[in-house]
Amino acid sequence: MSLSQEANPLLEDWHTPYGLPPFERIHPEHFTPAFDAAMLERQREIDAIATRTEAPSFGNTVAALDACGQLLGRIRMLFDNLSLSETSPALQAVEREMAPRIAAHESAVYQNEALFMRLHALYERRASLGLTAEQVRLLERFHLDFERAGATLGAAEKVRFAAIVEELAALSTQFAQNVLADEASFALTLATPDERAGLPSFVLDAALQAGRERGMPEGTYVITLSPSLSGPFLTFSERRDLREQVWRARGERGAHPGEHDNRPVAARIVALRQEQAALLGYATYADYKLADRMAPSVAAVDELLQRAWKPAVEMARHDRERLSALAVELGQPTPIAAWDWRYLAEKVRQKSFAIDDAQIKPYFSLDAMQAAMFDCASRLFGVRFKECHGIALYHPDARVWEVMDSEGKLIGVFIGDNFARQTKRSGAWMSILRSQSGRDGGTLPIVLNNNNFAKGSPTLLSFDDIRTLFHEFGHGLHGLMSNVQYERLAGTNVLADFVELPSQLFENWAQEREVLLRHARHVETGEAIPAELLERLDAASRFDQAFTTVQYVGPALIDMALHARTDTAPVDIAQFQADEAAKLGVPDDIGMRHYLPHFQHLFAGDDYAAGYYVYMWAEVLEADGYAAFTEAGDPFDRGTAERLLTWIYSAGNSIDPATAFRTFRGREPAVEPMLEKRGLLAAPARG
Ligand SMILES: [Zn+2]
Repeated sequence: MSLSQEANPLLEDWHTPYGLPPFERIHPEHFTPAFDAAMLERQREIDAIATRTEAPSFGNTVAALDACGQLLGRIRMLFDNLSLSETSPALQAVEREMAPRIAAHESAVYQNEALFMRLHALYERRASLGLTAEQVRLLERFHLDFERAGATLGAAEKVRFAAIVEELAALSTQFAQNVLADEASFALTLATPDERAGLPSFVLDAALQAGRERGMPEGTYVITLSPSLSGPFLTFSERRDLREQVWRARGERGAHPGEHDNRPVAARIVALRQEQAALLGYATYADYKLADRMAPSVAAVDELLQRAWKPAVEMARHDRERLSALAVELGQPTPIAAWDWRYLAEKVRQKSFAIDDAQIKPYFSLDAMQAAMFDCASRLFGVRFKECHGIALYHPDARVWEVMDSEGKLIGVFIGDNFARQTKRSGAWMSILRSQSGRDGGTLPIVLNNNNFAKGSPTLLSFDDIRTLFHEFGHGLHGLMSNVQYERLAGTNVLADFVELPSQLFENWAQEREVLLRHARHVETGEAIPAELLERLDAASRFDQAFTTVQYVGPALIDMALHARTDTAPVDIAQFQADEAAKLGVPDDIGMRHYLPHFQHLFAGDDYAAGYYVYMWAEVLEADGYAAFTEAGDPFDRGTAERLLTWIYSAGNSIDPATAFRTFRGREPAVEPMLEKRGLLAAPARG
């Protein structure tokens, strides 16, 4: 079908509430022609800046660059959001077609020689141009963006670099689609009561809901690979054989021979990245990535990760003894396996802290916890959230809120899309449909949070889910509270090892006693959670930290090793993973949170490549940052909250992140609060 541009809603002005996309009118076939038109428009804008006859100035070159490409930006943000949250075979086809073409367009922009010459001339004189600090930062940022995209390469190298970027874009798309295909094809049906043994009612409800979504006959219980369903299944199911099935299916995503096999895809991505780094003069791809991060070197990253890894593995040894003793008591086989750990740990947790998730969950409904996160944002930053009804979005589960500042002025729009479905990528994330900026009197940010909670009636969350909810909302606030002039520096457009600071920091309020006493109310009786139960919860939350740390740090170290390879022979992904895990001593009965063939952080894009460590890097900042509230004696201390807003949540990338943190905290960050929080400072003596 061919469409005239007049009929394409993607290319029209949107006279909709808040300028939201007119979702109902947009169909997959609109995207390709709209992308074509928008890329052409941006190319014309870029050419106009590059070929100006006036001497380069900040306004006619740098600010102009920041402001151009708005039509393409709007379409891309919409397309990316739909591809993540509500995809379809038709959208996936557009994605496969457009990803390499958009990458080629980006290369053409960032390798534009005349434009780079103008930028470079300004960059050389940046100290004497009379610019504000934010303007200098924007100029430096663009200059680096161009360098990193190959602007300084010779003509032949530029062509090769662009071809690599294009092929990588296609491979990343394929990688993510392969994972989704493996996830969508797995469904464990629990036909008999025996197969459902041990599962609390919230898991059963969610399994029924998953059955409905998969179009199974009413009353069918289905376990999918969605973490909020498969995680509790591994924790509670009495059926060791089924736990093993689910654990293996999770771990083997992307590693099945056939058309969705990600092992050769990942290997090709690694090879192209090595070539990309070499073209730009870096010894390894990790060096190339770290040149644009806070962390100074691969060695510095490894050192931080090892500071957590060693005591965590040691602590896990003690936990293992305890779990093994319990397994013997229960008449289960030892040595224990990876599909036993969560199950046995839950039994120990219940016994030691008299806690069981099934008893706790009714206090944590999604609605109550959502109200809690809005309330925390209000108390910290003075913002208010008001739900808007009657606005049609891309899926009925997505809800919209207006965000107002303390004077009632609209400062943003927030969309929450919380439930798992087959058309949504797994995991949780924040994204945007429009960025904040000071352009044209100010643009209103539209921020989305996606989660993959198992829908229930009502939906009840585990403590992990609540942390995820607050985490993504922390990113959301980073986008909503942004208060900078230039879009390139707005919101979460910060360095990759700083971006998890606002999100991880916000998780702390989810665990504040005062917040929970106020908001964690029993879903049937409305009664507040008993203080004594909270204390036990708090103690239990520090239990099994070794497991969590080992599961995370293992893949973070392997990511670094993979991207710091100097060997240019093709890598065998499965073999590399096995060798590195053996070298590190990844305990078999704990395993890893991600295995390379489905490690989307690394391969579904490049933001987190050589960058899975960023969570721990930012956690150092986060734990030390939250200690400022603890030291002030109030989780909502006004002075600390004001500094936090000014230097962290609203500053975007307008200042150097190390300076921003130091100014907020009054000193350099310390690593100890992170280790302490994970229970790794008081690790038992080795030997
Ligand atoms: Zn995050």
